[in-house]
Amino acid sequence: MGIDIKQLYKTFSLKELRKGLGVTGRQLFRKKTTIMYPEEKTPKSPRFRGLHALRRYPNGEERCIACKLCEAVCPALAITIDSEEREDGTRRTTRYDIDLFKCIYCGFCEEACPVDSIVLTDIHEFHMESNGERLIEKLDLLKIGDQFEAEISAARKQDAPYR
Ligand code: SF4
Ligand code: SF4
Repeated sequence: MGIDIKQLYKTFSLKELRKGLGVTGRQLFRKKTTIMYPEEKTPKSPRFRGLHALRRYPNGEERCIACKLCEAVCPALAITIDSEEREDGTRRTTRYDIDLFKCIYCGFCEEACPVDSIVLTDIHEFHMESNGERLIEKLDLLKIGDQFEAEISAARKQDAPYR
């Protein structure tokens, strides 16, 4: 077996190592494509589909009319609704649960809703610590809607020309 001079030269001249360092060096002066998450965030689309919320009208009335279209359209069977008629003859939900483990964040519920009640916000930083927390209930959904109404309506306004 003879000595491979070419290979020997490559090994002792550290050719491959210098080549690799060259690539690293060039990248040092390029615009960075990474960010320091979570301190830095990238912009999100107004169509981003994160945590759900139930919205109200400006007078405080719930938008949801308990038509159950969202429940019917949900491909993951993640939504459970119970409803009853109020004294004024309108129908409202008495229970509106979303199973966040089942949900696949497809946005079908949002698309199906005739009154813009159920929406998917751009909130994506949430977690659960026990199995029981996977169900998000009506009052929590309304609370999220109340808290983020300004952001929700701004995102919908921005997206309106494309709908
Ligand atoms: S986003 Fe999709 S999977 Fe999740 S609750 Fe709505 S319809 Fe169901
Ligand atoms: S959230 Fe919308 S689609 Fe679902 S029951 Fe209420 S009104 Fe109907």
